[in-house]
Amino acid sequence: MNPKVSVILTSYNKPQTVGKAIDSVLRQTMQEWELFIMDDASNEETAKVINKYLNDKRIHYCNSYVDDQDRYKKTRYAALINQAIPLTTGKYLSYLTDDTEYLPTRLKEMTNFLDRYSNIDIVYSGQMIQHVDNELKLVSMKTRKTKGVLKRAANRVDHCSVLHSRTIAEKVFRKYRSYWDDNPKYWHNGDAAFWSRLNEFEPFYPIHKVLDISYKTPSSFQKLNAFLPPKIPDGILVKGLGSEVYLIDQQKRRQIKDEMFDRLKYNHQKIVAVPDPVLFKYPCGDPIDESIFRNQTIPNQRLIKAEERADLFYLQGNQKRKILDQKAIRRFHFKLEELVHVNQEDIENIADGPHIHSTFSPKFILPDGVIYLEGSDYFLSYKNILHLIHIQVLKKLQFSEAEFVRMTKEERLLFEEGESLLFEIFRK
Ligand code: UDP
Ligand code: MG
Repeated sequence: MNPKVSVILTSYNKPQTVGKAIDSVLRQTMQEWELFIMDDASNEETAKVINKYLNDKRIHYCNSYVDDQDRYKKTRYAALINQAIPLTTGKYLSYLTDDTEYLPTRLKEMTNFLDRYSNIDIVYSGQMIQHVDNELKLVSMKTRKTKGVLKRAANRVDHCSVLHSRTIAEKVFRKYRSYWDDNPKYWHNGDAAFWSRLNEFEPFYPIHKVLDISYKTPSSFQKLNAFLPPKIPDGILVKGLGSEVYLIDQQKRRQIKDEMFDRLKYNHQKIVAVPDPVLFKYPCGDPIDESIFRNQTIPNQRLIKAEERADLFYLQGNQKRKILDQKAIRRFHFKLEELVHVNQEDIENIADGPHIHSTFSPKFILPDGVIYLEGSDYFLSYKNILHLIHIQVLKKLQFSEAEFVRMTKEERLLFEEGESLLFEIFRK
């Protein structure tokens, strides 16, 4: 006999909580379920946890084997759910993420409700949200309450608080030729995009109770993505869920080896944690190791100097720009403590760029990666174009106030203004 409910669990690199999510299904008071674990090519640690459950005949496992560099192309969990639905057999469908636990009576109460009211196809519940630290210790919590019968459930009901009939999912499929919309523009609220599709047919009916607990860890997508601009500027150090650190240089990600970190005077405090799908969007560039000196691939936006010479250079666009005077050093807040010593010979092999001096003029080329403050607006210079940037984005990217360079309006107007580096607004 077919199980009553098919639970679709989407998983990616959450070894600390994915087991809790699976346990919460095993602990349900209603046992007529099947569970589809849709794993998005997680790491070994996560696979180990999941493997322990795979002897249970009710539990099915699929691995997407997605390539990291393709992650950003689709809203991954929506793609996984779309892949799962045709494999499921239950009368009802229910969603679970790898950082959420169902309360034991959830499936029973929700399926009872839909069994009782045969004209209703979608039910939702309240949710407890627990913000936790990396060790899963509680930081704060709040409840997402039910809000009555919802004709517009988008952004008001969480992914893990809904159960609906297969029949209504098929109506969505007939209209859209897909269940969930996996367009990556809905990554932060793919559930809302699907709820809008469901709402075209029927409202969501509430069970006025908390029936799931969702953990928000420092590594959840929403947290890591908050205040990130559409493009991460060059010169920023980034890190995903793995331990590798990369430098964004010429819009590529260059892995920086531990031993080069101090050699190039980078600061560990300045590493920005970003979601993996964002990180892997940047193509791989040359790794940053000892070979950068002989290959003229020293990262850009570094200050360099030969031991025995007085000349200082700023690297930009793979060229070296000579800094003409002390005033220019002060003007652009170049940090002498971050000076990198390079052999004179290796310096000579780097192509020359335009000099850097302290006064702006229409012909002057701005140094890349400097933050200017004009009135209350912040701008980042890149390829001699100024990009408006939000203070929250600057904080996220670990810029400190001491780095900001004041500029008058007249000075700013000497330069072209390009696309803004603002951030998208998120709901959670
Ligand atoms: N996810 C995925 N592939 C990825 C990243 C995330 O399948 O590359 C899944 C993840 O396992 C989870 C869902 O997407 O089920 C939402 O991710 P997360 O919990 O990190 O985001 P948030 O709770 O902040 O929305
Ligand atoms: Mg989550």
